[in-house]
Amino acid sequence: MKTSHDLDSDIAEHETRERLLRRVQKFIDKWSTKLGVEPPGEVRIRRMKTFWASIEDRRRGGRIWINRALADASDKVLEYTVVHELIHLRTRGHSETFCKLMGEALPDWRARKSAAFDLGMKLKTNGWPRR
Ligand SMILES: [Zn+2]
Repeated sequence: MKTSHDLDSDIAEHETRERLLRRVQKFIDKWSTKLGVEPPGEVRIRRMKTFWASIEDRRRGGRIWINRALADASDKVLEYTVVHELIHLRTRGHSETFCKLMGEALPDWRARKSAAFDLGMKLKTNGWPRR
């Protein structure tokens, strides 16, 4: 049986995920129009240790998967992550085309990318969210 402490942390976790969903959705709304891509049909949050996010094209379900750990990310890092994934709807991989599109969308994307890397290193040291 769950204790009241468990229930409190369930609620806190739910709120954390809801807040992250809303932040992600805001960036999706803003950038899918700008990038001329169809917005993902669904945003899913999950724990991942190897990447920040991934995206499926429509034929594969049209979902965007967001790492739960991004709840601790700044807007700059979160926006970079969302834009990165949306650009993958236009081009696969991290080719020159990808970098060009990233640069047009977010001129400071390389700094944001390294901030995302720093967050990853911090989590590696301090521990990733356990749920
Ligand atoms: Zn990528």
